[in-house]
Amino acid sequence: MRCGKMAAPAAAGTRGGVRRRCQRLLYWVPVLFISSILCWSYYAYVTQLCLLSMANIGEKVVCLIAYHLFFMLFVWSYWKTIFTLPMNPSKEFHLSYADKELLEREPRGEAQQEIFRRAAKDLPIYTRTMSGAIRYCDRCQLVKPDRCHHCSVCDKCILKMDHHCPWVNNCVGFSNYKFFLLFLAYSLLYCLFIAATDLQYFIKFWTTGLPDTQAKFHIMFLFFAAAMFSVSLSSLFGYHCWLVSKNKSTLEAFRAPIFRHGTDKNGFSLGFSKNLRQVFGDEKKYWLLPVFTSLGDGCSFPTCLVNQDPEQVSTPVGLNSTTKNETHLFPPKTLRDSQSHLLTDTQSWTESSANTEKGKVVPKGMSNPGLTVENET
Ligand SMILES: [Zn+2]
Ligand SMILES: [Zn+2]
Repeated sequence: MRCGKMAAPAAAGTRGGVRRRCQRLLYWVPVLFISSILCWSYYAYVTQLCLLSMANIGEKVVCLIAYHLFFMLFVWSYWKTIFTLPMNPSKEFHLSYADKELLEREPRGEAQQEIFRRAAKDLPIYTRTMSGAIRYCDRCQLVKPDRCHHCSVCDKCILKMDHHCPWVNNCVGFSNYKFFLLFLAYSLLYCLFIAATDLQYFIKFWTTGLPDTQAKFHIMFLFFAAAMFSVSLSSLFGYHCWLVSKNKSTLEAFRAPIFRHGTDKNGFSLGFSKNLRQVFGDEKKYWLLPVFTSLGDGCSFPTCLVNQDPEQVSTPVGLNSTTKNETHLFPPKTLRDSQSHLLTDTQSWTESSANTEKGKVVPKGMSNPGLTVENET
């Protein structure tokens, strides 16, 4: 009997595991669909259009060179978007074992918030839930960094999550957002290039007529596919360009981030040029290549000077901080500084805490635009 009882949950577990594996395989269908179209377009363009239909040698050579350049950049950025692992919050954001135990014992409500507040005390977190509470993920048991969200498909918290994209079967977030943008840009260029160079042969198909070979059907479908994808890709790419210019993620465009002082849809916007550099980095020579150059560590982000109390900012060391309110002042973070990982930054946060005498803080470099001063109430 005991064996039977043990076997039933085990069998159910195995069935669940098989179902999950099948589901995971199904997630690859859109990627296979795009890859198949890409392979067919390569065959149709290179052999059927360039080699068989183009009579002019010069045109043939220029088209083949340009085509392979776009093709390579498209495939490279697509590959990087698919296979770059999304970044998850570092261990500093996870609750300690003691806090987890305490959380299980405490009833829901203010006591739990107190645990989260304590856990978030030394973390660079400015955003809150709708009710003003600390953002906490029950599934991952961690305090969510700013701009981090839990993805139900990946079942993980993803840093600066933009969206889960079925076409790349991956979460688009801090680690691969630049690759995703380049993937959109290069796939759009690829389609526009094909449509532009295929147009005259497409017109010949309907007017003077092409020789009755199988090439004519490839040429016709190639133009239809390229034109159709160009339309959809240009709208998506345009939308993401707007998001980058405003330093917003797709999720933040739908629901503005909430800071301690309230909702601020432009809370992370630093101005067009700096917003661009947040995603593409400081070195322009890498902007068009799918290599990681985004600024920051994904856990903390410079904000515009929101909710800044001018009195606090101009107050010298340690003054104005002896109220019951606990003031947390993180050391100034320039955009450049934020490139280092939180683990290295932790040192500076900790050092600041060490300089803090029971509610007193030691502000440094107050003129820095990356600094945000907030009171915990
Ligand atoms: Zn989570
Ligand atoms: Zn995901």
